[in-house]
Amino acid sequence: MITFNKALRVISRALTPNKPYHVQWMITRKCNYRCRGCNVWREQDEEELSTEEIKRGLDILRKIGVLEVTISGGNPLLRPDIDEIIEYASRFFITTVYDNGSMAGKKVEALRNADFVAISIDSLNPEKHDYIKGVKGAWKEAMASIEKLHEEGINVVVSPTISQLNLHEIADFTRYFVNKGIPVWYCLYSYDVMQSSDELFSIGKEDEEFLIRDRKFMVELCDLLLEMKKKNSGILMTTKTLKAIRNIYSSNKRTWKCHALRSFFMINHRGEVSGCHLQKPVASIFDLPKLWNSEKFNELRKRYSKCEKCAYLCYIFYSLHGSVIGNLQIAKDRWRSAKFFLRHKP
Ligand code: SF4
Ligand code: SF4
Repeated sequence: MITFNKALRVISRALTPNKPYHVQWMITRKCNYRCRGCNVWREQDEEELSTEEIKRGLDILRKIGVLEVTISGGNPLLRPDIDEIIEYASRFFITTVYDNGSMAGKKVEALRNADFVAISIDSLNPEKHDYIKGVKGAWKEAMASIEKLHEEGINVVVSPTISQLNLHEIADFTRYFVNKGIPVWYCLYSYDVMQSSDELFSIGKEDEEFLIRDRKFMVELCDLLLEMKKKNSGILMTTKTLKAIRNIYSSNKRTWKCHALRSFFMINHRGEVSGCHLQKPVASIFDLPKLWNSEKFNELRKRYSKCEKCAYLCYIFYSLHGSVIGNLQIAKDRWRSAKFFLRHKP
């Protein structure tokens, strides 16, 4: 929940240069779904941090100036201590919690403390969604969770992963949810190209079916979303990000340098830190205060800034907006979205 004091802290951190803006913490690899384009459920690991260790880790993130924490997994809501983790994280950070739609409706009290709850839903077509998620009945569960959270006044966001399978329905999908007062945050199907034996961060699984082949249509979709965004603040992706995606699909050009380990980084269920989930872990979260300004991290940042190995949308977003000016652009965009949330409170 965004209290006045938290808002002040967040604004002052957003205006301080050279701080990490965003952290995604995959607090567990456990998942109750079997999504076709995902490696997480295929590669399980029992070892994960305790509640106290996670809280200690959150204290460290606060110390190094992180603004926003996304709690994901696996399915983070499967952890029995999730209530405590969300409550603690949301005291200091803009906190987003991800769910595949199966748990959020049953965890309303825990989720009241989160700033945003993102439900991953990929289609308005129940069969198609169930096929993508690998679980029968997944669509029904997701829609019920979205409705429940919205009714309860929790800031629920839908998060479809755009792929060849749903590309042609994304505009209708967006209209459907924003007209109901539920904003949309897109992901873009991508798969992990760099596999290594000590990989613990593996997420995207290569699958021909999901790869976007209809590049021309993708460009048209970006144009359409840019138009829709002018009139509707329920599209949470910034204009700059939509234009960057358009550029990839129209001319294969990247309009950004990667800011991994600079404006964003990842933490896995063991507390290992890496610039992004495709790069090897480079530290334990508990060593971050002494490493954040180190030569070692500066060298890694230089290396990552030249990397062009992926097009995961959140990495593009936080690379494009990874500066004080970038934070102000996000704030401007989020302000419009905040008005959208207020207008649509049930
Ligand atoms: S994409 Fe998310 S919900 Fe689906 S299997 Fe992977 S971790 Fe679970
Ligand atoms: S471009 Fe950046 S986010 Fe993508 S793999 Fe390279 S370092 Fe990671």
